[in-house]
Amino acid sequence: MVRAIVGANWGDEGKGKITDMLARESDIIIRFQGGSNAGHTIINNYGRFALHLLPSGVFYDHTVSIIGNGVALNVPYLNNELEDLVSRGVPKPRILVSDRAQLMMPYHVLFDQYEEERLGGKSFGSTKSGIAPFYSDKYAKIGFQVSELFAPETLKEKVERVCEKKNVMLEHLYHKPLLNPDEIFETMMGYREMIEPYVCDVSAYLSGALKAGKKILLEGQLGSLKDPDHGIYPMVTSSSTLAAFGAIGAGIPPYEITQITAVVKAYSSAVGGGAFVSEIFGGEADELRRRGGDKGEYGVTTGRPRRVGWFDAVASRYGCRIQGATEAVLTVLDVLGYLDELTLCVGYEIDGEVVKDFPVTHKLEKAKPVYKTMPGWKCDIRGIRKYEDLPAACRAYIEEIEREICVPITMVSNGPGRDEIIMRG
Ligand code: GDP
Repeated sequence: MVRAIVGANWGDEGKGKITDMLARESDIIIRFQGGSNAGHTIINNYGRFALHLLPSGVFYDHTVSIIGNGVALNVPYLNNELEDLVSRGVPKPRILVSDRAQLMMPYHVLFDQYEEERLGGKSFGSTKSGIAPFYSDKYAKIGFQVSELFAPETLKEKVERVCEKKNVMLEHLYHKPLLNPDEIFETMMGYREMIEPYVCDVSAYLSGALKAGKKILLEGQLGSLKDPDHGIYPMVTSSSTLAAFGAIGAGIPPYEITQITAVVKAYSSAVGGGAFVSEIFGGEADELRRRGGDKGEYGVTTGRPRRVGWFDAVASRYGCRIQGATEAVLTVLDVLGYLDELTLCVGYEIDGEVVKDFPVTHKLEKAKPVYKTMPGWKCDIRGIRKYEDLPAACRAYIEEIEREICVPITMVSNGPGRDEIIMRG
């Protein structure tokens, strides 16, 4: 049985917390896309952790954590993240890395920085983790698979060829120091040493695990609106953030993914540029940002303040639909207890017309929010474990969101901790 945990919004919905929680009952947890460019915050009995590359299942000793072929694998980063966990008292997790995962090269990170510099104010708001250059190279067929580290003769030749191409750009477009292929080859041999104990034919392993009836979680990074096809292109990430891609990025049959858990945030937050219809500003935004998440709304990887706004029903309904959500988890609801009134964006006004379907980017940029308000519950709901014990105004807000997104809300998260969850019947 495979369950995908994916974001319905712009990312930072709290997928890490939900994955960590559901991993207790699972055997295998897989990252299937993205890289170290976004983080998951997890708070459990070992402390507070910001994971970037490791799946959020690494805190249990009964689970196997997998880096799937769809991931942008930054080997030294993975190594550091593992060492950090162990140094903080977490038992060394069991890790497998797909032999078909591709390597984040040091020059991918450099190219990301150089391109942002070149674009200046017109940049895409990249986290400069090398993600766009990495996926560009993968699909241009000049990336490096983990498997290639174990065929050093052909690898050496390929490194030379790739450097030749990269150096033209470095010299003539970016005016930066050139790459030395011998140095890069040596670095890659270092990667080989670090990664060797974990390398595995992951799709074969998972095929066996599925036959044996193991419970598998797919952990998505970012959310629907950052998907390169279905999101707010071009202000998107470079790998698919959708549950459907889980089959490809892990190497399993698509029909095995029977449960798609969309994580929906009780208000909106986003990092980077792009249209954000229900965004709020000024003091109102500062207050929500300060109270948001577990330590305010600041990026886990970059520390950048996140943009914040009211719940956007148009974007969230689309986000759930494009994920194929079979259920939704509503997160960070506790944060909203200070408001006299809740504001929900229930439509977009575009050129004088109100639309309910999430539009393509050029129309989205013209959209103005159509709001409706509901009374606040004006109290702290943390610690509540039963749905019926929530204040009536709070339940009304949840049920209104459920109607808007057209997906049953099966869980409500009312705090960052592992056990701060309300299950609905
Ligand atoms: P992810 O990338 O989707 O895993 O999300 P992040 O970890 O980047 O951001 C979610 C933030 O919200 C983290 O700081 C979490 O600790 C926090 N969080 C998750 N669920 C809840 C919740 O129900 N209530 C509160 N207050 N914080 C939460």
